[in-house]
Amino acid sequence: MFRIGFGNDIHQLISGKPLILGGVEIPADKGAFGHSDADALLHAITDAILGALALGDIGAHFSDEDARWKDADSFVFLKHTVELMKEKGFRIVNVDSTISLEKPKLRPYIDKMRENLAQVLEIEFDCVSVKAKTGESLDAVGEERAIKAETVVLLDNS
Ligand SMILES: [Zn+2]
Repeated sequence: MFRIGFGNDIHQLISGKPLILGGVEIPADKGAFGHSDADALLHAITDAILGALALGDIGAHFSDEDARWKDADSFVFLKHTVELMKEKGFRIVNVDSTISLEKPKLRPYIDKMRENLAQVLEIEFDCVSVKAKTGESLDAVGEERAIKAETVVLLDNS
């Protein structure tokens, strides 16, 4: 049986915070504000896998009111979710994500993100797609106030 999942995430961009995406720290004027390390890509992928399994959302599993997750490495959330998925007998077929960020350009960092994700998701590099686009100077992304990530994931239990 196949299951499809969708996840998205948004974080405010502020000065003095690191910008971490897919576990890669990206040199930038502004970073993402959040309770954990605010890795929007990992949060969207975590939500997509939980969604495919109808297990609720990332906030239900990792509350931002829980001191354990303050400044947490978001790979902890994703690894835990992958374990839940495996307990249910599923594996990931492929993941496709889009990050929306006005600047800097993410192209130099994309393959490192894909490598990190392939390892945690236990799939091949070419089954992990990460795309990047700007907000075309429109909306919160375009005004450099926010970073967004959106993901779809396909699971299989055969
Ligand atoms: Zn988030």
